[in-house]
Amino acid sequence: MCVCFFWRVVVAAVGVWGLLASARAEETLFRGATLFTLVDGETAARNDGFLLVSEEGTIEAVGAGDPSADPVVKGRLTAGTATVDLKGKIVMPGFVSGHSHLWQSVFRGIAPDGELHPWLRALHWRYGSFLEDGDFGAFTRHGAYDQLRHGITTTYNHSHWLGKSYPRYLEQWQAELNLPQRFVFAWVNEAGVTDAVWEERLRTVQAQLKPGPRSSFLGLSINPRGAHMGGDMLTREIALARKLGLTLQLHYLEPLAEAPQDRAQWPRLKEAGVLGRDVSFAHFIHPDAAMLAEVAKAGNAMIWNPLSNGRLGSGLPDIRGYLAAGLRVGMGVDGQASADISDPFENVRLGLYSLRMRQQNAGGLQPVDMLRLHTLRTAEVLGVERWVGSLAPGKFADFLVIDPQHPGTGPVWDAAATLVFACSSRNVAAVYIGGRKVVAGGKIEGEDTGLTADVERRVARIQARAAAAPKP
Ligand SMILES: [Zn+2]
Repeated sequence: MCVCFFWRVVVAAVGVWGLLASARAEETLFRGATLFTLVDGETAARNDGFLLVSEEGTIEAVGAGDPSADPVVKGRLTAGTATVDLKGKIVMPGFVSGHSHLWQSVFRGIAPDGELHPWLRALHWRYGSFLEDGDFGAFTRHGAYDQLRHGITTTYNHSHWLGKSYPRYLEQWQAELNLPQRFVFAWVNEAGVTDAVWEERLRTVQAQLKPGPRSSFLGLSINPRGAHMGGDMLTREIALARKLGLTLQLHYLEPLAEAPQDRAQWPRLKEAGVLGRDVSFAHFIHPDAAMLAEVAKAGNAMIWNPLSNGRLGSGLPDIRGYLAAGLRVGMGVDGQASADISDPFENVRLGLYSLRMRQQNAGGLQPVDMLRLHTLRTAEVLGVERWVGSLAPGKFADFLVIDPQHPGTGPVWDAAATLVFACSSRNVAAVYIGGRKVVAGGKIEGEDTGLTADVERRVARIQARAAAAPKP
């Protein structure tokens, strides 16, 4: 009986090892592309580059030329190794958006003549209170699919409360859990409940955080409600975030007209504890010199959102000055109601061109720097760079396959310049997350085809409810 059990264990173990051996045979080799790893220190593309990706979805090897001559790959290629030929294509890490509000995706074009506050009045304050069950979830899915189609493989979803109940608020997080796009969720604490309830809810969500190549939930963060309120709420939120090891991000210094009032808040924000590497500021367009020096020294970061800052007429941050001062800079596309196209290629192009127009020369940041800002640097700000943001062994195999000939951009003289100056998301031939192709030719695997009609019905209902309500 005992011996029989022993052999059953041995046979089971051999079975497991057999499976592991065959898993190696299921590695995939992507080869022949012009490859941007965007790892630090690497500014040029690798010609005839390759990636070896495990069945689990992590990068095993990165190189150029003959893969079988690579010391890591050597001996691993078998007849069973799938090979994807990417000759003529450009491969780069998936874009990372460091500041987004996914639910806003169904409100594009709203308040086209408005700066931040008229725009907020038209969107959040006119329609925000009329959302009903299921709206936040459907709108969040719409926004995530849209970003994914444009090549954003990881997003920071700065969620909003708006709904009238906790289950309704939670729809934003739950929607993303079931999507392929990776995300860091910026949580809003409910007003009017105790700090103990905040903590218990955060711990419940945090317990589900198990980052892996097959997991979309990469991190939990805080969008502090206290940033816009008096009293000690912000202090309490920052203390709780630090207790749980979470980052925070707040909107700060966005519209020029409000810069004097925003700057006047700086002593209060500092007293609440905003200085530190775990706090980033979305926008941060109009700091004074002393403030810039303080945040750079403390290790804070800012997220630059050129499309949104242009759309709302908010202004152009002095990115060159920030980098020279040592401030960490990431990039975001913001919500799709203020960066309506949500295209990271447009975001890097507009950002770079705006800086060059202001400085009236082409010095400073170059195309490859823009690509790194919107990938690795942003991943660092979000605290997820150990998994995403560049293509290196051990990281998740999240990458874009870009075809500069569909639509045709002509011969490629300089691959980084072609990406930033000449390509758009229409050139994204495929998006891979964890080594799996999730977008091909603009179509997302498993996308809910009824979603467009669903959100149209939902928005029509919101418009009808808002029209029937007494004017504020
Ligand atoms: Zn925002």
